[in-house]
Amino acid sequence: MKNKKGLLIIISGFSGSGKGTIIKKLIEDYNYCVSISATTRQPRDYEEHGREYFFSSKDEFLNMINNNELIEWAEYCNNYYGTPKKYVEEKLQEGQDVILEIEMEGALLVKEKHPDAVLIFITPPTIDELKSRLIGRGTESEEVINLRLNKSFEEADVIEKYDYLIINDDLDTCVKDITTTINMERNKAARN
Ligand code: 5GP
Repeated sequence: MKNKKGLLIIISGFSGSGKGTIIKKLIEDYNYCVSISATTRQPRDYEEHGREYFFSSKDEFLNMINNNELIEWAEYCNNYYGTPKKYVEEKLQEGQDVILEIEMEGALLVKEKHPDAVLIFITPPTIDELKSRLIGRGTESEEVINLRLNKSFEEADVIEKYDYLIINDDLDTCVKDITTTINMERNKAARN
């Protein structure tokens, strides 16, 4: 029997794994529907409210939690991040697949609520590459880079809970691997 509900796809990866660029390609070249998270982090120069994130104050964020407006939320490197519930649930009901780009704690919470969700983890080929990408993008201070690298080492233990590990060595190959994985899972869901 055909599964009419959309597929929930969660993409996580170390800070500096290239997730941002991958997500941009999935939206622009493949027209995927990607949820926009709320965060208390300060916007980077190139970011716009309502495009990369809904940038919120801590009070606004706490209100969203209290009003049960988030599917999940987590604290990451001293800021809050969360997935607005309404948009995601509406899209899934309409039969649209939805991608969440979130860190691991939130990913595992979503998996508990949506056991059919597909978990994909993106990693750069080596730790040195991870470090040089984080430094190279020039958006964070040294202190924040170190915090994010330490966080990556903590996260390494949880990767085994993911359904797929995809290496981002070459951007186009990585994006292709992700779309192939999603198509495969979509076909599997349609058969159940
Ligand atoms: P960044 O500050 O680099 O944009 O994101 C930091 C981390 O927060 C990344 O690992 C990203 O995947 C994660 N993140 C972004 N949005 C959400 C969200 O809504 N929920 C959770 N749990 N993590 C998120």
